[in-house]
Amino acid sequence: SDIGSQKDRVLTEEEWLQKWELGNIGFHKEQGHPLLQKFLDVLLNGRSGLRIFFPLCGKAVEMKWLADMGHSVVGVEVSEQALREFFADHNLPYCEEPVPEISGAKKLQSTSGNISLYCCSIYDLSSSIVGKFDGVWDRGALVAVNPCDRQRYASLMITLMEKNSSYLLVTVSYDPNKHKGPPFYVPESEIKSLFG
Ligand code: SAH
Repeated sequence: SDIGSQKDRVLTEEEWLQKWELGNIGFHKEQGHPLLQKFLDVLLNGRSGLRIFFPLCGKAVEMKWLADMGHSVVGVEVSEQALREFFADHNLPYCEEPVPEISGAKKLQSTSGNISLYCCSIYDLSSSIVGKFDGVWDRGALVAVNPCDRQRYASLMITLMEKNSSYLLVTVSYDPNKHKGPPFYVPESEIKSLFG
């Protein structure tokens, strides 16, 4: 399909921060995503105590679900407001500390220790900072990345994955000439070429 009309579109970090400030967060699902429930077995593949990564996490309630199942959750999000709302919405006590490797970044961590949320751009992360993951929940992440940054995003995600990790990706299918996005339309052929 022709994604010509979206390929040059760019949202700045400031525009995302402003969405949070204005409450323009129609992407947030209070009830969580039914596709995670549906494909949970694929993500876990019989394993327990996994490290699960949430790129561009917002305040996704699925982070709480997986933590409650005994997994350890790591997220990254540019909006500090989103992360504070996550902990507040779930009444979770947390502490915060700077991330020495990334100037200006903060890590907000639940007191129980199993949810660590980095407040910075995903492009600031590397496996030497956050380690590698057994599973990834990518909903509202690849489709929110600026189209020009997809290759960089996918390459980074691959470096953050353990050998046997599973990656659940949610995309949306629609005519990219009718909506400007985000969420952007990512054709299946592009997903295949990005992730191999
Ligand atoms: N995955 C979440 C949020 C989707 S919206 C959910 O399912 O609800 C995309 C989120 O990515 C927004 O909260 C935005 O603030 C954040 N974001 C955008 N660019 C980012 C970047 N480069 N690094 C980290 N977070 C980013």
